[in-house]
Amino acid sequence: MIRIEAEPWRKMVEHARATYPYECCGALLGSVDGDGSKVVTRALPLENASEGEKRVHYVMRPKDMLMADQEARRERLDIVGFYHSHPDCDAYFSETDRKNSYWYSFVVMSIRKGEFDHANSYIPNAEQTDFKKEELIY
Ligand SMILES: [Zn+2]
Repeated sequence: MIRIEAEPWRKMVEHARATYPYECCGALLGSVDGDGSKVVTRALPLENASEGEKRVHYVMRPKDMLMADQEARRERLDIVGFYHSHPDCDAYFSETDRKNSYWYSFVVMSIRKGEFDHANSYIPNAEQTDFKKEELIY
């Protein structure tokens, strides 16, 4: 289960709406409980560095990921996941999303006509061959 607190959630939706009709992306900072459930206390918007079609694609720069990791350490938090948006598309986990995943939670937000519609969270397996939907509370 992943629970996103009100403040980071507000920031994520705002980011996704502001970048519409392009995909937004960012890091989710927080902590993991003993039972494996995650709490997100900070959302860190990152730039979509894709040089392709940003309406259907996003790329996070390694240096931005490193910056997010440093920011997490500074606040004694962990990177527990990442988020991105699907403009005018459902919040499904695409083939590209699966290949680009690395164990974290992946929150996908559906933005329709510039407004938030719905969201889902997914956790890929270690081999990145499959993923499961995870309970998302926001
Ligand atoms: Zn996607």
